[in-house]
Amino acid sequence: MISERVDLFKLNVANLLEPVSALFEPLRKTIVENIEWDGVMNLAEKYTFTNWIAYGAGPVTLGFSAVMLSLGFFELGNVYGLWNQSWIEYGFKSRKPRMEAHEKTFARVPWKKQVMTEFANIGFPGGVITALGSGFLLPLVVKLPTEALPTFSDFFITFFFGSLICDFGQYWGHRIMHENAWLYHNVHGVHHQIDTPSVVSTAYVHPLDSFLQVSLPSLAAVILTNMHPVTFAIFTFTRVAENCFDHSGVNHPLINAICLKFLPLRSSIQHHDEHHKYSSYVGKGKNYGEGFIIWDFIFGSIRKTTAH
Ligand SMILES: [Zn+2]
Ligand SMILES: [Zn+2]
Repeated sequence: MISERVDLFKLNVANLLEPVSALFEPLRKTIVENIEWDGVMNLAEKYTFTNWIAYGAGPVTLGFSAVMLSLGFFELGNVYGLWNQSWIEYGFKSRKPRMEAHEKTFARVPWKKQVMTEFANIGFPGGVITALGSGFLLPLVVKLPTEALPTFSDFFITFFFGSLICDFGQYWGHRIMHENAWLYHNVHGVHHQIDTPSVVSTAYVHPLDSFLQVSLPSLAAVILTNMHPVTFAIFTFTRVAENCFDHSGVNHPLINAICLKFLPLRSSIQHHDEHHKYSSYVGKGKNYGEGFIIWDFIFGSIRKTTAH
């Protein structure tokens, strides 16, 4: 049984990480002693043990929220001029050229069209179909949780390995769509109409594109790590939010801190920005990865940039 092997693997990793877990013990104690647990546990139980929420509506709603919050966050930063010095430019120093490039992109693909497509993909009908599909299918194949909340070590182990699995799947889903002419022209090319991305362009994609690059790799990550529904919810939220940040065109310390971009082997915001700028064609493109740069390194598709 695959789920038993996965559990055994997780147990071995948990044992290895015992000293690290001990470091988090004071934090865990503080949380346990200070939170009004009855309310939290009631909510967690309802969430975790209602399959259509735990594996369908819950993660999809959190993905939707991640997009909305990211849009709001970047707009707020714009209003206060927070990003003024941090726009990723190619050969320019001031803010204006990036703004001019944005205007050219919006002239070809209007802002409203990007927003409407985004809503169709993550809201209705895309989000609803995804929620119904995964809410029905996942409980049939995963090992259902017995506890309302995951343990600390289970959370970190499944979050880490889930991220690697999801990123690997996303890399190949993306790469295949570049190297197959039909898929590029009919599916992924929609997203590459955007040569200068902004947060709103994140989900400006063909529905099959988001299935291959987001839904399928996420499902694989959940199944292959026996991911707990609460971890799945946080995983979806952070993954979608990072995808939005990767399209922001802003290389700012605050964003890099929020997205943990300073950790080794993580991909920079410039990594995906350059993908839009220099790989809008059929064939061997560069910088397919999203969360990590390891797959681009291993499979020879890394573009040398100053931001790595
Ligand atoms: Zn692409
Ligand atoms: Zn993109």
